[in-house]
Amino acid sequence: MAFEGLTTRLQNVFSKLRGKGKVSEEDVNEAMREVRLALLEADVNFKVVKEFISKVKEKAVGSEVMGSFTPGMVIIDIVNKELTDLMGGTQAKLARSNKPPTVIMMAGLQGAGKTTTSAKLAKMLLKGNHRPLMVAGDIYRPAAIKQLQVLGEQIKVPVFALGDGVSPVEIARQALEHAKENGNDYLIIDTAGRLHVDEELMEELKQIHATVTPDEVLLVVDAMTGQDAVNVAESFHAQLALTGVVLTKLDGDTRGGAALSVKAVTGCPIKFASLGEKIDALEPFHPERMASRILG
Ligand code: GDP
Repeated sequence: MAFEGLTTRLQNVFSKLRGKGKVSEEDVNEAMREVRLALLEADVNFKVVKEFISKVKEKAVGSEVMGSFTPGMVIIDIVNKELTDLMGGTQAKLARSNKPPTVIMMAGLQGAGKTTTSAKLAKMLLKGNHRPLMVAGDIYRPAAIKQLQVLGEQIKVPVFALGDGVSPVEIARQALEHAKENGNDYLIIDTAGRLHVDEELMEELKQIHATVTPDEVLLVVDAMTGQDAVNVAESFHAQLALTGVVLTKLDGDTRGGAALSVKAVTGCPIKFASLGEKIDALEPFHPERMASRILG
C-alpha cells in the first residue's frame, strides 16, 4: 500500500513531540526538519515540500503550540490540514453536462491504466444509474479494442468501436452522435497512449478534443512512477487543458509522492484513485481522507 514509509516516519516525528509536556521552538524546528526529510524520501516534489514546511511552520508559530499542553496534537492538526490542502482541499467531483452526454476523454501514457480505468469509471457511473457508453479510440495498441470490449461485456456497458481502420478522431465524432441518438448520458473515450509524451500523440488528442469538446479531460497516471507522473501531468496539461487526474496503482508500494505533488505542481485536481486491478477498485479521491490515511 502507498505511503507506508511516509506514515511510519511521520508517526515517529509526532510521537516524539507527543512525549513532551511543552515544546520549544527548537523542538518544532527539529520536527519540521524530519517532516521535510520524510516528504522528500516519499518522493514529493522538492518545491512542494519547501512551501509545505514553511506554511506549517508559519501556522505553528502563529498558533498556541508552544504554550499548549498537547503541542503534538496541535502540530498534527496543522500538518493534517496542510496535507489536505496540498491535495486539493475538497473532493473534486466529476463534471456533469446539462446537455448530455457528458463527454469524458481519457488520456495518458501506455500502461498507465487508461483502458481499465475507463471501465472502472463506467461501472461506477452505471451503479449511479447512468447510461455510459465507452469508446474504443486506441487503435494502435493491438489488443486495446478487444480489451475494452471484453471489459464492456463484463460490466454490461456498451462499447462503440469501428475497428482499427478508422481514425480515432472520426471514431470519437461518430461515437458522440451514437450516444446522443441512444440516450447515453456519459461518453468515455479511451485514447491511445505512447511510452513517452510525443508530438504525434498530442496532435491526435488535440484533434479529438476539438471534435468532441469534452467536459472532462482526465489524465491517467501511474503513481508508481513517482516524480515522472508529475512531469507527465505537467506536459499533458500544457497541451490539453486537463480537468482532472486519475492516480492509478496506489495499491502498489509507491512512495506516494505523486499523490502529494500533482495538484500543487499542475493545479489539476486528483479526481479518482485506483487501488487495484479489480473493476471496482476505483474511488473518488478525497484529500481529507487521504491526509488522515497518510498520518495513520
Ligand atoms: P493503458 O495502456 O493505459 O490502457 O493501461 P491498461 O488499462 O491496459 O493497464 C495496464 C496494466 O495496469 C493492466 O495490467 C492493469 O490491470 C494494471 N492496472 C491499472 N490500474 C491499476 C491499479 O490501480 N492497480 C494495479 N495493481 N494495477 C493496475
